[in-house]
Amino acid sequence: MRVIVIGSGMGGASTAYHLARRGAEVVVVDADRPGSATDAGAGIVSPSTSAWDDAMYPLAAAAGRYYPELTAELAEAGHESSYEVVGALVVSAVEAELTEAYDRVVARTGDAGVVQRLDPAQAREVFPPLAPDLAAVHVSGSARVDGQVLRRALISAAIDQGVEFVTAEASLEPGLRVRAGEPALDGDAVVLAAGAWSAEVASALGVPVPVEPLRGQISHFSLPGTETAGWPVVLPRTSHYLLAFPGGRVVAGATREAGVGFDHRVTARGQAEVLEQALAVAPGLADAGLIETRVGFRPVTPDSLPLLGQVAPGLFLATGFGPAGLTLGPYAGKLIAGLVLGEDVPGDELGPCAPGRFA
Ligand SMILES: Cc1cc2nc3c(=O)[nH]c(=O)nc-3n(C[C@H](O)[C@H](O)[C@H](O)COP(=O)(O)OP(=O)(O)OC[C@H]3O[C@@H](n4cnc5c(N)ncnc54)[C@H](O)[C@@H]3O)c2cc1C
Repeated sequence: MRVIVIGSGMGGASTAYHLARRGAEVVVVDADRPGSATDAGAGIVSPSTSAWDDAMYPLAAAAGRYYPELTAELAEAGHESSYEVVGALVVSAVEAELTEAYDRVVARTGDAGVVQRLDPAQAREVFPPLAPDLAAVHVSGSARVDGQVLRRALISAAIDQGVEFVTAEASLEPGLRVRAGEPALDGDAVVLAAGAWSAEVASALGVPVPVEPLRGQISHFSLPGTETAGWPVVLPRTSHYLLAFPGGRVVAGATREAGVGFDHRVTARGQAEVLEQALAVAPGLADAGLIETRVGFRPVTPDSLPLLGQVAPGLFLATGFGPAGLTLGPYAGKLIAGLVLGEDVPGDELGPCAPGRFA
């Protein structure tokens, strides 16, 4: 079977990798647009602390559980993924909020690891820049990943398996042909994984794909001489958060900006919001160096759930991952590969994400 995959963010890269592992002939086309969500994404992989409802949680939890298997497989093939289980701190100065967070995470039995309360001093031992009034719920099973590194690993591993990679703007034509230069590409199936741009690509065939960009601005700081590799993810009770990577790199994000289209700029307001929120939670970052601010477009749907499945004969969607595609994308790509190849996939996991729900 020959499959054309449009887009190579986390959704497309994972789908291509899993298709190739199962023996499909795969061509990936990516336009290298500025604002790929995967390249800007923070990298929190923590389904048990996320606000998924009961219908969506099986997919999110399975996605979290799949990470160790996938990254071990990539490591064996010589591709570093950057995935690490570092734990998470849900932080607050309000006792009732911590109690609610503890109860909610504990109810996600099996995915959270060990869940325990930390007083402010204990919380600062594991994340030193934290504000002195913040206590925490520590969740040992949460993890982080560098989206750029994992994406590269999946693409390299896919290319090792024979996947052809084309850098070009792809458009869809009747007869399920993909135009990305000459000649047009023909396949038995097309997987549309063009992130926030998916609606625009599908519109050429008159297929509605209700995905819009939600801009995120996210800043990276340096703490020279500080070993941050083991620091946990920090989750305040807002949409902002902090996490760390090896080598003194701390990441603070992110804005959630609707209605700005594909305007790929760091704005004064966005930068101010990120800095203000980061320093409110972690005043110890005041002297950190500001390395860069990344901008990415989360592909969001009207009900905030992904679009995973077939929308027209031979045309499959792997998009709409919103703010959680680094968590969901690797596993979703495996499921979409299975669907394309006509295999049985867990219906309870994909059900809430069926593209037909908006028809
Ligand atoms: C600031 C920020 C922080 C985030 N933090 C997290 C987090 O901590 N945890 C988490 O799980 N998720 C997080 N996310 C969400 C996650 O990054 C996204 O859901 C995920 O990366 C989406 O992947 P994607 O492959 O669908 O889209 P993208 O990564 O945007 O990839 C789409 C690709 O399609 C290509 N493309 C577009 N149009 C065409 C075309 N016509 N032809 C060919 N190629 C095309 C683009 O060039 C791009 O490479 C965050 C996102 C942002 C922006």
